[in-house]
Amino acid sequence: MTSETFCILPWVHAATLTDGNVHLCCVSSGGSGVNLNEHTLADYWNSQFVKDVRRRMLAGKRVTACQHCYRLEEHGYKSHRLVENEVWQKKCGEEVLQQLIGKTAADGTLDAAVQYLDLRLGNTCNLQCIMCQPHESSRWLPTARQISDLCQDRELKDDWTFKANINTSHFEWYHNPAFWSNLKTFLPHVKEIALAGGEPFLIKEQFTFVKACCEMGEASHIRLRYHTNATVFPEEMIPYWEQFEQVHFFVSLDGIGDVAHYVRHPSQWQEIETNIRRFDGLGKTPSRIFTSRLTRSISPAFPKFLTGRRRVICEIVNVSATCRITCTPVWYFTRHTRAFVFFLSTTSKSSPRRSENIWKNGWPGKLLII
Ligand code: SF4
Repeated sequence: MTSETFCILPWVHAATLTDGNVHLCCVSSGGSGVNLNEHTLADYWNSQFVKDVRRRMLAGKRVTACQHCYRLEEHGYKSHRLVENEVWQKKCGEEVLQQLIGKTAADGTLDAAVQYLDLRLGNTCNLQCIMCQPHESSRWLPTARQISDLCQDRELKDDWTFKANINTSHFEWYHNPAFWSNLKTFLPHVKEIALAGGEPFLIKEQFTFVKACCEMGEASHIRLRYHTNATVFPEEMIPYWEQFEQVHFFVSLDGIGDVAHYVRHPSQWQEIETNIRRFDGLGKTPSRIFTSRLTRSISPAFPKFLTGRRRVICEIVNVSATCRITCTPVWYFTRHTRAFVFFLSTTSKSSPRRSENIWKNGWPGKLLII
């Protein structure tokens, strides 16, 4: 665990993208060559890609897919790799992890099952958040096509043409019953599952799976985590959630009131607030964690809203600090922002004037990261 390249995740974790590609984790880059449209998680777990990663890490060598972590560390930041190594060491203890690593054959094959899954179940979503794109939200697709057609700026046009040209059928891999039945075979070993989208509460297969975890008697050792926009509250899931070791709701939110409506368009703040209260009311199991992909200053009322709540963790992502600027959406960049906001304000179904005014008059706090 002390090597400068070692990361525990290839021994315990797999992450899917919305298009079914399976990755080492949510920040790794490049594909594994395994896609759930054609393969199963079992195919991934001891695929040539993962076996090579394990072998390289054990030999202290760098892994191309892990550049994001190395870059952060070079700039003095605590990377996902360092965080996960710490977390798993605390959770399992050094001895157990060493035993697990000891189950790695010379060719990188691991004789142990995956324990932690991050499943981004396609791009079906009911919102069109300003930092998003069709890969993550189906709601963005028509707008992306319009932007791509209307853009004059070459670079911006290319960017949106790329975003608009997704193969929508690739984002429906989670409809495949083979994926879910294969997933169930891992359940006795699984300790943690994160479910995201799109909006996971719009994915009916996810509910069937959660019920199956309960019916199979596996829920009590699984920590379930949802990444939700809190516009949907599936009340019928409460009796099932109660059977899990823990259920966390990570609510994606960047502000309250009009700011929430503008940033995560066309969400209605009242609806979100009501649902957050419902999550709050679910007893000891769930806690609420708010993530903000923007800055602390986007809405002055937001920090107050957060600090007024119990057990809140607010993850504020500083784009430049995390070196992810190259993969952030185009609206982060000054020269494109006006075009984008203008477009949004002319296509929004509700409150276009308000959206425009927010931009013209500036955010109530400081400007966004540029
Ligand atoms: S080193 Fe970083 S990118 Fe690679 S698997 Fe670990 S956390 Fe993910």
